[in-house]
Amino acid sequence: MQSAHDKQRRIRRALLRWYDRRRRDLPWRRARNPYAIWIAETMLQQTQVKTVVPYYLRFLEAFPTIEALAKARRDKVLALWSGLGYYRRALNLQSAAKKIIRDHGGKLPRDWRALRALPGIGDYTAGALMSIVFRRRYPALDGNARRVITRLFSLATEHELRRIAAELVPPSHPGEFNQALMELGSTVCLPRNPLCPKCPVAACCAARKSGMVHRLLPSRGKSPARKIDWPLAVIQKNGRILLRRRPDSGILAGLWELPGGEKRNGESLKAALRRHLDGLGARVMAESVAGVIRHSITNRNIRAPVYRCRRRGKLPIANRQWRWLALSALERYPLSAMSRKALKLVIRP
Ligand code: SF4
Repeated sequence: MQSAHDKQRRIRRALLRWYDRRRRDLPWRRARNPYAIWIAETMLQQTQVKTVVPYYLRFLEAFPTIEALAKARRDKVLALWSGLGYYRRALNLQSAAKKIIRDHGGKLPRDWRALRALPGIGDYTAGALMSIVFRRRYPALDGNARRVITRLFSLATEHELRRIAAELVPPSHPGEFNQALMELGSTVCLPRNPLCPKCPVAACCAARKSGMVHRLLPSRGKSPARKIDWPLAVIQKNGRILLRRRPDSGILAGLWELPGGEKRNGESLKAALRRHLDGLGARVMAESVAGVIRHSITNRNIRAPVYRCRRRGKLPIANRQWRWLALSALERYPLSAMSRKALKLVIRP
């Protein structure tokens, strides 16, 4: 019978060997620059690798250094993030870049606590940076790594998962090992149908031995997605469209969008739309529904009817949260992905 120590050693060796042969050639894996790895790790939270690649390349081209990011216009940062979702990540990146310039001489700190103190850097990103960039022995638990470790050791609690994850990281090549775990989770140890016959650590896998591969993972206390209705208004004037900028806090913070918002219980869709149009509601008529789109944001599953609207006279737009934007400028504007989808129903190329 193998000891816990032996099992960990076999897993490390098999995984590192497998990763060396099979790892995908991704742009951030060629990067030596800590800043570039930080950007990649931030984009990869909640977003799939194939989606991230073009965003990563464009972002680094526009902001090649921490200093460039710190000095950039916020709208430009958001525009380059548009479509990647979880926009708070982009705003946090820029706040962290400013803090790094101010407090750390323009360089990512080499200390876990100092990294954790930066906006947007949680346990996962701090662990990824400490291990990949600074080669220190820290775990990096994203969803993929969590699933692999849970199955390998047939774990039932978050506490056990964190303890085993910390022990498992080897002193040499900790960054490669963490990436190997994540890579295995995203290409072999899949959530629904893991490809166990192709797995380099199948011989050590407790879940496979006991037939418990499909057991639920330890919960992180996430609440289930809510279904909501979110009517949107398309208001046009001489080849321009009316947009509103979202507040600096909350979901989609700082992004521009078609006016509209969440419907309350018992409220009609048009009443909700009028309420979300603030002072403009009385001067805007919802005329017809151009279509309905579906979209997910954090833990909301949204159904959004898109209304073509007519203006009654001049709209009293005085504040900077509102803007008439030329249709030709929409492409490079920091617009929410939901609004982009909605506009495709109304504006044909
Ligand atoms: S044997 Fe199967 S369940 Fe176990 S780690 Fe490998 S792919 Fe995942």
